[in-house]
Amino acid sequence: MKARIDQIKNELHTQSYKLTPQREATVEVLLENEEDHLSAEDVYLLVKEKAPEIGLATVYRTLELLNELEIVDKINFGDGVSRYDLRKEGANHSHHHLVCIQCGSVSEIEEDLLGDVERKVEEEWIFKIKDHRLTFHGICSRCQTEQGTEAETPSLKAAR
Ligand SMILES: [Zn+2]
Ligand SMILES: [Zn+2]
Ligand SMILES: [Zn+2]
Repeated sequence: MKARIDQIKNELHTQSYKLTPQREATVEVLLENEEDHLSAEDVYLLVKEKAPEIGLATVYRTLELLNELEIVDKINFGDGVSRYDLRKEGANHSHHHLVCIQCGSVSEIEEDLLGDVERKVEEEWIFKIKDHRLTFHGICSRCQTEQGTEAETPSLKAAR
């Protein structure tokens, strides 16, 4: 994690920003919760544990700055809440998300997978792709397994 913080520090530095203690605390929280997709408020509550003097506005501004610098991606899973997602190390584009419509779980696909699609779009629409947001909505493997066992129950079958 230290290495990743140093790397982000460098990125900020090249863009002539400083990694202030508030910014560092925010980045730490994002790193510690890399698997989660936290809202600004979630980040704020966690940063507050490290830096009690910090305000929501500061956290919000920091997240927006990190987003502008493409260190963090701002995503929305359709629930009206903006979430902040740390970009994977060395990734040029945002990773993809699988959102389960039953349990709400979110998993990530780190591999871009879109090479062919991107090439086609760039050629046919003469459009230079900088990034993309791809969210799949469906039923996660755990929910599918649970459904599978339920479907075998005769009473449930009869009810349908
Ligand atoms: Zn993600
Ligand atoms: Zn891509
Ligand atoms: Zn699920």
